[in-house]
Amino acid sequence: MPKDTDRKSNESETNLNRRSTNSSESMLSRRMQTMSSSAIRDLLRHSKIPGMISLAGGIPAPDLIDTEGLEAATFRAVESARNTTFQYGLTEGELFLREEIASRMVAQGISAEPDHILVTSGSQQALDIVARAFLDEGDSVLVEEPTYLAALQVFNMAGAKTLVFQGDQYGIDFTRLESLVANNRIKLMYLVPNFSNPTGTTLRLPERTKLVEFAIRHDIMIVEDDPYGDLRYDGEHVASLFEIAEQSFNSKNRVIYISSFSKTVAPGLRLGWCIPPESYFHSLCRAKQSMDLHSSTLSQYIAGYYLKSGRLDGRLQLLKKAYKCRRDALIKAISEHLPNTLELNVPDGGMFLWGRFVSGLDASLVLQQALSQSVMFVPGKYFYSETPDLSSIRLSFSTITPSLADEAVKRLAIAIQRTEQR
Ligand code: PMP
Repeated sequence: MPKDTDRKSNESETNLNRRSTNSSESMLSRRMQTMSSSAIRDLLRHSKIPGMISLAGGIPAPDLIDTEGLEAATFRAVESARNTTFQYGLTEGELFLREEIASRMVAQGISAEPDHILVTSGSQQALDIVARAFLDEGDSVLVEEPTYLAALQVFNMAGAKTLVFQGDQYGIDFTRLESLVANNRIKLMYLVPNFSNPTGTTLRLPERTKLVEFAIRHDIMIVEDDPYGDLRYDGEHVASLFEIAEQSFNSKNRVIYISSFSKTVAPGLRLGWCIPPESYFHSLCRAKQSMDLHSSTLSQYIAGYYLKSGRLDGRLQLLKKAYKCRRDALIKAISEHLPNTLELNVPDGGMFLWGRFVSGLDASLVLQQALSQSVMFVPGKYFYSETPDLSSIRLSFSTITPSLADEAVKRLAIAIQRTEQR
């Protein structure tokens, strides 16, 4: 039998705990209190369940990462740069790596001096840096609908308002864009022009040119997020917004170009880069300084030696061949096991198939059934900030080998059937 005093002290402890839970909420910033966890990151926990086939994560195929090349680069990084590899480094990144990035960028039509490339901890950090450097609370950012979820999180975290417009390979709703600028002070426009996440869409040259002209006319900074650009396996290269601004409009101040080694080398290195207009370079460095001083020196040396080894171009050829093959195998399986069920957007590169249930089925309900069939995907609604299309889905094919595609879609077909029967 607990003594009365024990009970009282337990009660008061419970009250205390309750109070501290409540007050821990109120201690958080208003932004943090309204910030929800990424539904996709939460969903990805299911992908660890044994036997699960995941069409959910936008991750590079583990079997296609050049572990041999990276092992050699790691060895060199540790061996030949003992004094530097394990030391603090420059905020803008190691010159050694920036030179390698610059020469790759120039080969793609993006004129960038090593001195104006900021190495970041993944391209995600580049987005965060840009948001911190440019956005005040209440500022507006133009985003496509749907768009990359974690970019929406960054803009929300900065206290900015996102204003949406529709864009696809067939066109952009410029009437809507003009009405948005007429009624709001817009600072940034965020775009994923190549093989976008989530829709896989690539913007055509005329739309890109019109967007740059629009941004110049309305004094808006374009944030060009391009982590998938190197993974084109069909069609022709389309000039970047960065290049168009410079070449067609003689404007060097309009586009912040962002890219990453996550999809082409290894996401675990956590390395990306950002090429802002020169006049903003030092401000962005200051913003990064307050976040992490600099990106991992070890990772930068590994990436630098890997690029110097000349293996990346060969690896890109291999990746493109494999992803094209995986895309086609998934489409074939869908046409065999799910005829007339999904309307698909077939990408020219990258990792994502975007689809809509023709019958208007709710993708979240299908996902519940799919999880019990050990297959998963991402309901498209998570990528919308205004009006979600509940029947849209994102299917990532990067990790689905052709032999797995058939089984994945068979399981999906059962899940769809069960959802329809409910
Ligand atoms: N932008 C887009 C469009 C992405 O899809 C991703 C990764 N999913 C990122 C940025 C962030 O990638 P990382 O930080 O690994 O470079």
